[in-house]
Amino acid sequence: MGSLQKLTKKQESEFCLSCGECCKRYWITLLPSEASKIARLLKTSKGTFLPNYCMLNVKLYPKTTPGVLTFPTTFFPQRLFDLIKKEVATPAESFFIVPQVVLSRKNKIIFKFDSKRTQKEQRFSCSFLKAENACEIYPVRPEPCKLFPFIAMPDLREQYPFCELFKSTQKNLSIESKIYYKRVQEYFKNVDEKSFLGVWQYPPKKGLLFLGEKQIGEISLDELVSMMPKSSKKKQIYK
Ligand code: SF4
Ligand code: SF4
Repeated sequence: MGSLQKLTKKQESEFCLSCGECCKRYWITLLPSEASKIARLLKTSKGTFLPNYCMLNVKLYPKTTPGVLTFPTTFFPQRLFDLIKKEVATPAESFFIVPQVVLSRKNKIIFKFDSKRTQKEQRFSCSFLKAENACEIYPVRPEPCKLFPFIAMPDLREQYPFCELFKSTQKNLSIESKIYYKRVQEYFKNVDEKSFLGVWQYPPKKGLLFLGEKQIGEISLDELVSMMPKSSKKKQIYK
């Protein structure tokens, strides 16, 4: 199967502890071209890789003006609209929808002992993170993995107190990050123009729904597709 390599940034900096903490904290988003490379490495097809190793992450941000990936709540399934209403009594009339495919994460229960009690903590980590912090898809890991922790600007160092690499170096990948963000923008534009299914041929069938950064429930592929109808239908509503 994959290509197991010790995590991760040892090659990139003498300061990375290869602790794997970065693989235990974030959803790793994929662009379609990255999915193809990973599937090839795993010697499988995209049709097998995407539904089995990935899931949907859909983020909603209130937006009042028309634009890329902005859709009126008229299109939202009632179940999802009710989930939003539980969070905000009067939802915005339209939302910027960020529809992403992410690597699945596995759930691990960790027990912490102190003198008084035992605490149970749930930790999620990337399902490609294997024993001794080795990455199963290291040569083709997605761009956010390669750019971390320099995907943010240096003045955001306090966001990563757990990362020795970030604390110890002044390395700056802002140019690489900008190139990546441009590719992400192109992805959004493509989804807006061609639809989600026009960009992803075999997307995962299920995933999570977020209002901003807060997880508010689950979402199915069918629900996502109905929230984002083709541009012609959207234009009729905005006229
Ligand atoms: S793909 Fe590899 S580097 Fe990226 S989060 Fe998963 S285990 Fe870590
Ligand atoms: S959290 Fe930082 S130090 Fe640990 S593996 Fe990731 S990049 Fe390296």
